[in-house]
Amino acid sequence: MNKKLLMAASLALVSCTLVAQEKKQPAPMSHEMSEFYEPVPPVVTPGTELKGGGFTAPSDAIVLFDGKDLSAWESVKGGPAEWDVHDGVFTVNKKKGDIRTKQEFNDFQLHIEWQVPTNITGESQARGNSGIFLQGLYEVQVLDCYNNPTYVNGQTGSIYKQSIPLANAMRKPGEWNVYDIIYTAPTFKDDGSYRTHPTVTVIHNGVVLQNHTTILGTTEWIGFPQVKKHGAGPIILQSHGDPSEPISFRNIWIRKL
Ligand code: MG
Repeated sequence: MNKKLLMAASLALVSCTLVAQEKKQPAPMSHEMSEFYEPVPPVVTPGTELKGGGFTAPSDAIVLFDGKDLSAWESVKGGPAEWDVHDGVFTVNKKKGDIRTKQEFNDFQLHIEWQVPTNITGESQARGNSGIFLQGLYEVQVLDCYNNPTYVNGQTGSIYKQSIPLANAMRKPGEWNVYDIIYTAPTFKDDGSYRTHPTVTVIHNGVVLQNHTTILGTTEWIGFPQVKKHGAGPIILQSHGDPSEPISFRNIWIRKL
């Protein structure tokens, strides 16, 4: 092969290699390539904003109390929930014990509003104490912490005896407090220990108190959290044994997530 032919053959080879390399190059990114159109999120019609900052139930929520009756609730001892419904709210009846939802839940968004009465008395934990037990086991504390010091892992919005809230956003007695609680249920290993812990975010009157907090185990008044394997569970509202005037609740709804 003479020199010219050799050069022509070499150029042809280089040219073929370049074409082959060009074919292997992925197409350049365009904005459409990272835009997805499925699955389409469902349309949810939001509720109406109430004076005080809460919202009525959005269209896909399960209404747990709409001001009329406690038909979505029952006593934890069995039988009907016998707390006192009046004026579109209900008030804890300390003689009747805790109440729980008839339905059980896993992951959820819970909206619940509560009010400490203006004639509240007592101090520390004995002042407007109640609580919201997630899946019946993990307490988000309800307490009158307006100018009422107590142990900080037991104040309003604590995961009781586990997690100190990031702030104190209490409104004074007679005003409505709004909780929005976003909860992820735990998963378990075969031996009953957590594979993934429960987690919770608590927003109180628009202020974050718990930011995706890891829950260590069940709420215990004495001792440390326990790990108990469980499935779906109810929302339990606490009838606390302190002698202070009972608090009231209104506008309760939940969305399964
Ligand atoms: Mg409590």
